[in-house]
Amino acid sequence: MDYNELLSTIHSLPKADLHCHLEGSLSPEIAWRIVSENKLSLPDNQVPDNFEDFLGMISIENQARDLLDFTGAYFRNLNCAVTCLDDLREFCSDLIFRASVDNVRLLEISFFPGYIAGNIARHTSSKPLYEEVIRTISLAVCEAESEYGLAAGLIVCLGSRDLRNKNYLARIVDLHKEFAASPTLFTPLCGIDIGDFDMDFLHPDQETEAFLIEQCRVLHNSGMNIKCHAGEAMISTENGEETAVAGSVGTTESIYRALRFGVSRIGHGLAAVQDQSLMLRLYNEKVHLEICPVSNYKTNLFSSFERQHPLRAFIEQGLSLSLCSDDSTIQRSTWDDDYLWAIIRLGLTIDEIRKTITSAYARTFIPEERKNRFRGEF
Ligand SMILES: [Zn+2]
Repeated sequence: MDYNELLSTIHSLPKADLHCHLEGSLSPEIAWRIVSENKLSLPDNQVPDNFEDFLGMISIENQARDLLDFTGAYFRNLNCAVTCLDDLREFCSDLIFRASVDNVRLLEISFFPGYIAGNIARHTSSKPLYEEVIRTISLAVCEAESEYGLAAGLIVCLGSRDLRNKNYLARIVDLHKEFAASPTLFTPLCGIDIGDFDMDFLHPDQETEAFLIEQCRVLHNSGMNIKCHAGEAMISTENGEETAVAGSVGTTESIYRALRFGVSRIGHGLAAVQDQSLMLRLYNEKVHLEICPVSNYKTNLFSSFERQHPLRAFIEQGLSLSLCSDDSTIQRSTWDDDYLWAIIRLGLTIDEIRKTITSAYARTFIPEERKNRFRGEF
């Protein structure tokens, strides 16, 4: 198959993306329009002169220094363009449109309600409640779903304090029930990302861990699916400050800890490759890994991406996994790119790619009745 044929084959595949952060996937063109029309200065005080300039401040052309470089200035700069709930609506609708152009049929969108509310608060006198943010995203995505012909689901990301906050979690569960009762109006809240186990805050003492695990059980019993980030990058917290270690994936310990919380899917999980018994456990417990090849390169996790990326090893182990976009704007990538990279740089075959797509369809948190209309394509 020549390159053009490969491109069009990849493009035409029906895709299911289980790991897409709204905050890292906002349209750069819309963001620039808002920033330039409102003469906004970026949070790190840079002042872009034109779109190319702006693009350089919100995205990574080659590679970030490390994961925290990736998640720092670029996210802040990009998200300063969300100045009100109307902007949020426009960004959501556009994301669904762009995904549909790459033949994404199932799209799970993750977001931090508090982070988005905080960004809007920088531009308005009254801070929108996180509930308004969730409701706005759900309504906007649902409208775009029917316009552009895909099925979506929303994943609420929890910050370090959120998982400890019983009132907050109870409100999320209420919204989950309310949205589930009106599926033609609202895109469902189908899951919770309980955080990043490579980071410091999920290293609680035993008593706190038992409490947090119980919180997860309550969420799960209320019909919410639980996932997390783990085993992505080595984060050091010496001197109380988090620093990321470039050229190194996270620890197997963070994945073992995540498993104690009952997660059924893990974002990245790359560190598992270092531990055969952990890979066996992931296989036996049917834990699904969300693999984001372009992101893994851009965050500089490997000194040699092609030689060290564990995708091939995971496939040989028979692990359930799928390819996901993560933060396409910051990465300057499209949905097709992750598939292309998996083939060209990591050596997967088209048949193996098709298997990852079937796995994504099987393991999405999007409810059956919503995803069913695409069953024939998967
Ligand atoms: Zn992620």
